[in-house]
Amino acid sequence: MATNKLKIAFYWAASCGGCEIAVLDINEKILDVIQIADVVFWPVAMDFKYKDVENMPDKHIDVCFFNGGIRNSEQEHLAKLLRQKSKMLIAYGACAHLGGVPGLANLANKKEIFEKVYSSTFSTANSENITPKTLVHVKEGEVDIPEFYDTVKTLDQVVDVDYYVPGCPPAVERTLFAVEAIAKGELPPKGSVLAPLKSVCDECPRKKENKRISKLYRVYEKTPEPEKCLLEQGILCMGPATRGGCGARCLKADMPCTGCGGPCPNSPEQGAAMISALASILGLEDEQKYSEEEVEKLISQVKDPIGTFYMYALPASILRRKVMKE
Ligand code: SF4
Ligand code: SF4
Ligand code: SF4
Repeated sequence: MATNKLKIAFYWAASCGGCEIAVLDINEKILDVIQIADVVFWPVAMDFKYKDVENMPDKHIDVCFFNGGIRNSEQEHLAKLLRQKSKMLIAYGACAHLGGVPGLANLANKKEIFEKVYSSTFSTANSENITPKTLVHVKEGEVDIPEFYDTVKTLDQVVDVDYYVPGCPPAVERTLFAVEAIAKGELPPKGSVLAPLKSVCDECPRKKENKRISKLYRVYEKTPEPEKCLLEQGILCMGPATRGGCGARCLKADMPCTGCGGPCPNSPEQGAAMISALASILGLEDEQKYSEEEVEKLISQVKDPIGTFYMYALPASILRRKVMKE
């Protein structure tokens, strides 16, 4: 029976599954969603086959929420298929938006990842060095397995994307904002990130006193003073370089922002923006005051620069991936 309801779809690619749960985090508001929308494809919750999507007319789906980056050929195929079948494609969550935590695998290539996962870990016994192949012959027939790529890509590096919902996973208010904007037809221009034009610092209740620091602490090394800016207490917080819209939820739980909202609108290179903010608070703008060794000592306190500055956004950054020798 034909209805006037929106037809919506959810799909996951290189994803942890958290974004699928985030959809349910809207709790009883899901009932409002069901009033206006029918779910026509959601493999994690209902049994669908890919041919169900293939058989849909083009643009049959009104809105597809796609979470996860593109790590293998099956995910790329589904991204292209869902693009073809959807009027609106939304990159939902940091992995689809920016590559996300799985995108840190761009520090290695397929060969190195397979070596680690299938050979060199202590618990692995694989003397014949068997790794996944795209075509496997078994007695029942041939098994076709997706090709694992060298590089994790963001959704918009594979297909055209209409909107982005940031976060790892997106905060409840971001999901509701997206659903309400779609329902009311009040969406901003195509290509927009559905989040406010402000940073996490702008939303953070902690007070900044424009203090300089000389020592950085890892989270477990220091109990932060309440109400004061964590960064000014030496705890590396990505708030200055991260787009708000989450209500600074980590800061309210005494944890620093790790950057899941992605870059601020005016500084699209999130890692570089944070390095600049950190250099400023460490006083490195007055570089002539410091010897090279002193600068080196200050900077070497950041134990995992890529994991810190690009935890969610390496595939979307200008670095994109580590260049590997063949
Ligand atoms: S954005 Fe975060 S919660 Fe969502 S799939 Fe990626 S890792 Fe999981
Ligand atoms: S740096 Fe972190 S703790 Fe400080 S104001 Fe910004 S978000 Fe809050
Ligand atoms: S505070 Fe930072 S890491 Fe935490 S939810 Fe907000 S943007 Fe993400």
